[in-house]
Amino acid sequence: MSTAISWTTGVSPARTPAVQEIARVLSQVPDPEIPALSIIDLGIVREVHGDRVIITPTYSGCPATLYIEQSIRGALNDAGLAHVRIETTLSPPWTSDWISDEGREKLRAYGIAPPPKGAANASLRNDTHAQCPRCGSMNTAEISRFGSTPCKALWRCNACAEPFDRFKCH
Ligand SMILES: [Zn+2]
Repeated sequence: MSTAISWTTGVSPARTPAVQEIARVLSQVPDPEIPALSIIDLGIVREVHGDRVIITPTYSGCPATLYIEQSIRGALNDAGLAHVRIETTLSPPWTSDWISDEGREKLRAYGIAPPPKGAANASLRNDTHAQCPRCGSMNTAEISRFGSTPCKALWRCNACAEPFDRFKCH
């Protein structure tokens, strides 16, 4: 395990060039729902080894899950890394806490309210508070369970009257 990167344990020991190269390729794979973010920004990639990567999809019902795996496969193959296996683990389940700080900034810049850090998974579905990504107001309301994609809900800011997407995929 000394040549792996792990986001689960928070340990990134000595990285071999092979592991670094795989991580670099993965950092350029966009999330299909939110192309501004990479799958590493979203915390979907959990571990990178010299011969395999371990991913945890945002949630099993997410229609983008299969597409993500295909995107990773394609990116690895294009980089001459066809030997690298992709393993999926659902335990522990993905949580929005795994979205990196950089990922949260990108979400905000993209006009999507990032989920509050430390929020329990269960509270995300029925959370009544979301911060407007445009003006920062907390005076917001959900308009629709489904925004531009099934993984986003449509919200509206009562302060600046702007609608915005809220990431609810977990
Ligand atoms: Zn606003």
